Formats: sequence, structure tokens, C-alpha cells
Amino acid sequence: MDIKIIDVRDDFIKFVVSGVDFSFVNSIRRALLADIPKMAIEDVEIHLGAISDEEGKTYESTTPLFDEIIAHRMGLIPIPTDLEMLGFKDECECDGEGCISCSIMYSLNKRGPCTVYSGDLEPLGDATLRPKDAKIPIVKLTEDEGILIYATAVMGIAKTHAKWQGIHGAGYKLYPKVDIDYKKCDNGGGCISICPVNIFVKDGKKVKIANPENCTMCKSCIEVCELDAVKIGYEDDKFIFRFETDGSLYAKDALLYALAHLGASFEEVIDLVDTMKPKDYKPIEPVKLAIDDEEGPEGVAYIPADESTHTPEEEPVEEEPVVEEPVEEEKPKKKAAAKKTTKKAPAKKAAKKK
Ligand code: SF4
Ligand SMILES: [Zn+2]
Repeated sequence: MDIKIIDVRDDFIKFVVSGVDFSFVNSIRRALLADIPKMAIEDVEIHLGAISDEEGKTYESTTPLFDEIIAHRMGLIPIPTDLEMLGFKDECECDGEGCISCSIMYSLNKRGPCTVYSGDLEPLGDATLRPKDAKIPIVKLTEDEGILIYATAVMGIAKTHAKWQGIHGAGYKLYPKVDIDYKKCDNGGGCISICPVNIFVKDGKKVKIANPENCTMCKSCIEVCELDAVKIGYEDDKFIFRFETDGSLYAKDALLYALAHLGASFEEVIDLVDTMKPKDYKPIEPVKLAIDDEEGPEGVAYIPADESTHTPEEEPVEEEPVVEEPVEEEKPKKKAAAKKTTKKAPAKKAAKKK
């Protein structure tokens, strides 16, 4: 397997992974979507009653939105998440009480008229924990309206709730393969002008291919080329993978976490299977092909049938149909002969005794 990163930013990554199959890249996609932890607001405490400002003016703690809607909107604000510094509350040394290793507390204190944004959330403590995207609207306040909220963000995963899904637009496509048959190509350049993503470029008089990974497989180049010189396909074991984050995580950190998580999950399965082995467990011998003739084609190891561990199923024996012969009527003479033979037998036995 090989990975080549072709574009990486804080909240976006695009890479080429080769030497793998669909199930492998899909397992990365699923781990990214469901298993990456991130911080999100879980508890919201909304102040009820009058709110006073520094000059003594009072505001009603009412808003045009229900409290539940405000709490829901706050839950979806991306909260900066440092996966090395923060952990799950129920696994924390504070025994779920809440501390700086598992929780971030925010206050939101605004008075109208104004629009309250995510950037108005004030972290209690580390100022770097302010939401990176400061322009997410929460609610609009009119004259004499105010809002005072205390909120707590905790770590979670998307399997529990979508607000803990930090990865979006995770997907992959097969790596495109664009070829020019130079025996047919007249370098006319029709493909250059028709391609929407500039896959074809002119190198001197010759048409060449640049950045084939950008090909959208629209096949316009095939349609325009009357000489049938352009071939479009894809590579079976090479994929272009891309995803973005909501800003709470760095894309590269998320990818590393997903890969480590997959590895740890498989280790867990191996350990579980190990505990299920009986004491006298022996690995199963691979089944060998058994034939009567020891000499097989070159490179194929045959063993004689009687030494084989593989016993072919017995073929059912076909029963021969019973043909009843017509019974002839016994003649009196033959009956007598039969009586003679049965009488002689004891005489023979007696002779042996003597
Ligand atoms: S299939 Fe479309 S995108 Fe791909 S090279 Fe041809 S014209 Fe360009
Ligand atoms: Zn804690």
C-alpha cells in the first residue's frame, strides 16, 4: 500500500492511496464519519428573569426562539478539539465530574438589539478554545431582549449524535487512467479545448496528459476525437480520497486517528479470537488436492490419495434392479436327488470324527 498526499489544508485533505481495494478505503471512510471524537456543547443553562448591564439597564431574558432551538444551534457549533489534550468525560480521572481534560465551559452574555454569533461564546479559561468559525448565527435579539447562557462542551462520537461528527464530505473515486494512442493521434488538439478540467496540454507540437487525477470521466474527449486516439479508464487498486472537517479538527489529525482506530479495532478482534481458542487448538492444515497419480502439472504438489487428509465423498452405489426369474415347477426326480445330498452330509461328518 502507498499513500501520496496531493492537497492538505487545516480542514481539508486529498490523497491517493494505491495497492488496496474498495473494502479497505470504505473502512477508512466509515471510521472517519463515525469514530472520530470531537468536542460539542452538551449542557446549556439559560438564565431566566431580568439581566442587568454595567449601567444598570435591565433586559428581559427572552428571545424570538425557543430555548430548545437555541440549545440545538449551540450544539452544532464546531468547538476546537485537541485530541491529545482532551478525552472522554466517562474515562477521565475526574470520574465524570468535569475538568479541563474532558470539558470546556463557555459563557454567552449578549443584549439586544443584535445578532448573537458563535464568536460571542467566551471560553472560561483558555482563550484559544473560542470557536474558529465566529460567524455562525445563533439568534437575533431586539430592543430590551438579552441572553445569558452557560454551556459545557464534552467529547463524543458521531455514533452517539450527529453534533459530534467532525468529518464531512468523505468520499473516494477510482483513479482515472487517460491514455493517448500516438499511432492514431494527429495532435490536432480537439481534446485540449473540450476537456473541462485541462487534462490535455500541448508540449511543443505534441498533445500530452497532465494531472489525470482531475479527470471527471465525462468522455467528451473520446467523442471529439474522430481518430479514436483517446482512451479513458480507471485503475483497479488505486483511489483518490478526500474529506473535510467542520473546523473543530485538523484534517491530517483526523486521518491519523481514523487509521490508528482501525488498527486498534482489528487488534481487539484478534485478542478476542485468541481468548476463544480451546486449549488443544491447532491451526487447520491447508487441504491438499488428492489424486491417485502422484505426477501432476509442474509446480503443483500432489499427494497420493491414501496419504491425504482430504477424503472425497463416497459416491452412492446404484442398486442393480432385481430381475425375478420365473420359478419352474419342481419335478419329483429332482426332489429325491436333493434329499440324497442332505442325507449324505451327516455321514461325512461322522467319517471325520473317526
Ligand atoms: S473524460 Fe472528460 S475530464 Fe476526462 S480527460 Fe476526457 S474530457 Fe477531460
Ligand atoms: Zn475530567
